[in-house]
Amino acid sequence: ERRAALGAATGPGATSDGHKVPLLANVGGPGDVAAAVEAGAEGVGLFRTEFLFLDDSKQAPSREKQVEAYRQVLEAFPEGRVVVRVLDAGADKPLDFLTPADEPNPALGVRGLRSLLDHPEVLRTQLAALSEAAEGLPVYLEVMAPMVADRADAKAFADACREAGLRAKFGAMVEIPSAALRARSILQEVEFLSLGTNDLAQYTFAADRQVGAVSRLQDPWHPALLDLVALAAESARAEGKSCGVCGEAASDPLLACVLTGLGVTSLSMGAASIPYVRSALSRHTLAQCERAAAAARATDSAAEAREAAQAALSGEA
Ligand code: PEP
Ligand code: MG
Repeated sequence: ERRAALGAATGPGATSDGHKVPLLANVGGPGDVAAAVEAGAEGVGLFRTEFLFLDDSKQAPSREKQVEAYRQVLEAFPEGRVVVRVLDAGADKPLDFLTPADEPNPALGVRGLRSLLDHPEVLRTQLAALSEAAEGLPVYLEVMAPMVADRADAKAFADACREAGLRAKFGAMVEIPSAALRARSILQEVEFLSLGTNDLAQYTFAADRQVGAVSRLQDPWHPALLDLVALAAESARAEGKSCGVCGEAASDPLLACVLTGLGVTSLSMGAASIPYVRSALSRHTLAQCERAAAAARATDSAAEAREAAQAALSGEA
């Protein structure tokens, strides 16, 4: 009975009326894969490849070392989706050989895709290693770039993927407001979007992720952030492409229902959150999620948005 009260305890993510929302895991490397499989993740929605590079901040890991690590993650999800993010160095993840030492505002400096475009050999090696790791595996590989600002960034990344001969879908993370505002133009260059709500909040509210004193300003429930999510999701739908969420927002069960109502097509989170999000989704219809999303967007603050969504969904279970 308890199980029934919690809703679906296993199986693919879906609303109570069967609208599918794949539940994917965020992983940092092969060590996180067992927990993801155990939680019933339908694949990996964000493989943060930084871990491989953080061992030695003086140089990039060899191609062989990268192939080995990527292969271990890809092999864990035969037939599943694995979305690999290329190196996101800089700001909260500095690397000596890539990150300028004297930036006054590292979060606004050379980070993510920007640093890879400045060091094309690092990107080339990573893409070549991914290509080799995926060879012969049935896995459905997707590769995305962090910190894409506009169409030119998306094109530069897609060109690099093509030049590396990568057989995968290429995507862009939406974590800079300009990327959400111009999502349709970015989608002329890439095949999918993934919302990084942690950075998207940081840049939307001009509140550094690393400064505790402004952390209350980074609430992903804020209607300003919900508007940007809606814009990206609607743009993807108009282009017939997918738009997932891989930031922390996806791991909040109530917010996961709202994100679904805003039109996002998959949710990726730490493995431990998957059962709670699966359960919340399974207790509401897509129309209820849409009503909760509209109610949240009609407010003026994060606290009001959360309350409005809760009210819209309660009593409907
Ligand atoms: C994000 O910014 O939301 C994201 C998923 O990337 P990271 O937290 O690694 O910057
Ligand atoms: Mg990010």
